[in-house]
Amino acid sequence: MKKTLVVGTGNLGKLREMEAYLSDSGWELTPKPPDLDVDETGTTFAENACLKAVEVAKYTSQWAIADDSGLWVDSLNGAPGVYSARYGNTDEERIGRLLRELANTETRQAKFICAIAVANPQGEIIFQSEGSCGGEILYEVRGEGGFGYDPIFYVPEKKLTFAQMSPELKKSISHRGHALRKIIPQLLGVD
Ligand code: IMP
Repeated sequence: MKKTLVVGTGNLGKLREMEAYLSDSGWELTPKPPDLDVDETGTTFAENACLKAVEVAKYTSQWAIADDSGLWVDSLNGAPGVYSARYGNTDEERIGRLLRELANTETRQAKFICAIAVANPQGEIIFQSEGSCGGEILYEVRGEGGFGYDPIFYVPEKKLTFAQMSPELKKSISHRGHALRKIIPQLLGVD
């Protein structure tokens, strides 16, 4: 019988990706209770992922997994970084703000970073991992798929934005794909 892993996110895009990426992990994923909101008070992706995993595990008394992720833009000294979700109220606002801030720069290098934390039902962090994916920020949106900043994140090696990629291709190269692949062997080892 599959064990239950509560996912500490209210972001539907992330939840769908995590479900797809962890389908062979031996765990059944379920969303966190909607009334539980964890303040992301950490200064790093790893700290925030741990905060969310611990709170969700304690609240539900179940195993919990949390992802904290965001976009690191070189010419903005790493912004929006851990504030990626708070850069605006909607994906359109967040993308619009980033494009305005980069309007006068030709230096478009960026990377997505994803930190994953898994906590046991006692609220202790048991596994952690991190993954990243390098790319460039376009001058305008391109593509219809994905979520968040996907339509402006271009991966030169694939000549596509995340929003133009199939879910399978994004999974194979993305920050979240890399981070979750490191966690699967650990999840398979839990009794
Ligand atoms: P948080 O991890 O909940 O703090 O949110 C991270 C922010 O980065 C949100 O605005 C997400 O939409 C965005 N983000 C995280 N991962 C991705 C991704 O794979 N593609 C596009 N945007 C992402």
